[in-house]
Amino acid sequence: MSLAADPSGAYQAFYRRSIDDPEGFWAEQAQLIDWQQPFTQVVDTSRPPFAKWFVGGQTNLCHNAVDRHAAAHPDRAALIWVSTEVDQTRQWSFAELQREVEAMAAILRAQGIGQGDRVLIYCPMVPEAVFGMLACARLGAIHSVVFGGFASHSLAGRIDDCAPKLILSCDAGSRAGKVQAYQPLLEEALRLCAHQVPKLLWIDRGLVPIEWRTDRDLDYARERERVAGERVPCVWLESNAVSYTLYTSGTTGRPKGVQRDVGGYAVALAASMKHIFDGRPGETYFSTSDIGWVVGHSYIVYGPLIAGMATLMVEGLPTRPDPGIWWRLVEQYKVSVMFSAPTAVRVLRKADPKYLHEADLSSLRALFLAGEPLDEPTARWIRDELGRPVIDNYWQTETGWPILTLARGVAPMQERLGSPGVPMYGYRCVLVDPETGAELQEPGQKGVLAIDHPLPPGCLQTVWGDDERFVKTYWSSIPGPQRYSTFDVALRDADGYTFILGRSDDVINVAGHRLGTREIEESISSHPGVAEVAVVGRADELKGQVAVAFVVPKDSAALEGEGAQVLQQGVMHCVQSQLGAVARPAQVITVAALPKTRSGKLLRRAIQAICESREPGDLSTIEDPAALMALAERLRQTG
Ligand code: ATP
Ligand code: MG
Repeated sequence: MSLAADPSGAYQAFYRRSIDDPEGFWAEQAQLIDWQQPFTQVVDTSRPPFAKWFVGGQTNLCHNAVDRHAAAHPDRAALIWVSTEVDQTRQWSFAELQREVEAMAAILRAQGIGQGDRVLIYCPMVPEAVFGMLACARLGAIHSVVFGGFASHSLAGRIDDCAPKLILSCDAGSRAGKVQAYQPLLEEALRLCAHQVPKLLWIDRGLVPIEWRTDRDLDYARERERVAGERVPCVWLESNAVSYTLYTSGTTGRPKGVQRDVGGYAVALAASMKHIFDGRPGETYFSTSDIGWVVGHSYIVYGPLIAGMATLMVEGLPTRPDPGIWWRLVEQYKVSVMFSAPTAVRVLRKADPKYLHEADLSSLRALFLAGEPLDEPTARWIRDELGRPVIDNYWQTETGWPILTLARGVAPMQERLGSPGVPMYGYRCVLVDPETGAELQEPGQKGVLAIDHPLPPGCLQTVWGDDERFVKTYWSSIPGPQRYSTFDVALRDADGYTFILGRSDDVINVAGHRLGTREIEESISSHPGVAEVAVVGRADELKGQVAVAFVVPKDSAALEGEGAQVLQQGVMHCVQSQLGAVARPAQVITVAALPKTRSGKLLRRAIQAICESREPGDLSTIEDPAALMALAERLRQTG
């Protein structure tokens, strides 16, 4: 079958093999990494919904990310760190990175940290955080990176959940030139949590003074001198040992502690670097994410390094010192693959496009975007300005690597605006009716995107410390055969492209019509006066639910008065003409900003709660509470 998404049919064949012969397929992919001892079974599916990959195999993430490249290409660039906040640039070759990681591992080992022990990393975007992650991987310790922007309450919950023996932290981060001290937040978190953390290891950047507690605190620079020259070998781990835990973004409620393995993750990342990102050894990969998120884990730290690429890590904002900074970095470090998020592109879109054209971007082959819906206007803008493929990719903290995208490394594939692409190899994706569990086969049918057991390598093993939550949350929500629910609603078109329409709880039912809030948002964002939009459903006596749209105007003059009225009417008209009258929002409200999570996702559930006069629920991951308060105020004003 020839599909527009896969004109040669080559990807289809690749995908089919991964589904029909998973053992053969993944055994082959497993050759992309080093094994100290070969596995005896490719996958153990005897206890669904759990799965074990590469059973009996012994390997190590740090060996695959660092040591093997340090042995083969010691002088090749491995980690490039640029801080536009403190005006510093540093670079490590693979051999130098190995020395740093061994030093960090020696420090941890001296504190009695070994296999299975937890280390929490609460740091800004500093290279020592990467050393810390890799040092844990080296020792078989389990890291739990907590996004450095989280405050005490969120941090305390994560400390209690993973019960670390040691916390690696920093005197301060810096954002937009403002120093943000970490110690007060961490001390407050330690007061709030029940778990006693024996040791804190501080990286002192000299930004703010640290108050030392001698029985508990260690100074990284001092400890590093103490262990100078010590060698720390990689601990060989069974493939299914735990490598790390990481929390989901908390967009829909209490964050879930995703637990990942070692071997499956290493293989999945190595395969994705080859087949999806087409990143080649010796080149530079630039992900603009943060190490506190899954994209940072997979595609700042482990993925590029496993592939023998240099990874560019940036502390700083996309607009400082000016909106040309990322493009200059692409030029300077000859970045071949770049990975960012739609939210960042929307920020850059507000700036002058001249910045894009001032840099020589000839090294860049493609830009990947993920994390939230990529609306068509944003996608078209960046694609046209860059003149390169802009590839949406859809996945979750849970899966660790893309579920839907285009496998450029396997076959030439044509991107389609608005769709992330097609199911990636290994993912047995199905669309199901959430009420009946029936599989939806016809193009255009909307259903919940589900994945059949077993999930491919690299996906979560379970929820940390809570197998029951794993089974109940992910595998029990769809009637019929046990399937993993992504909780996202999607449809497939006749050309084979899958479109994500929104979260399953974001589907609203207006007078019997099921509408994805994403579809309405997509329509509204095509209005030239709209910078950003959020649509939520509000309970309505007559219609069951109605759509309410919150719109950030491009021009702040349209926030109030006549300008706002014109925009509101334009938006209504846009939706009515594109989607029909049922989808037309009952209300269009102009706001200056939308509430988002720290990872830049719209907090729709909080907006919806406020629309329905309910408590907004867990706000521990909110970026700017003021935006939510202002939105509530606007809502009150408009009645
Ligand atoms: P929580 O699970 O705690 O509510 P979260 O789902 O936002 O938070 P993440 O794992 O960071 O946590 O995000 C994954 C979700 O982000 C996906 O399930 C999907 O809803 C959305 N998403 C990610 N990438 C895309 C994309 N390319 N297009 C549309 N949606 C996306
Ligand atoms: Mg989620």
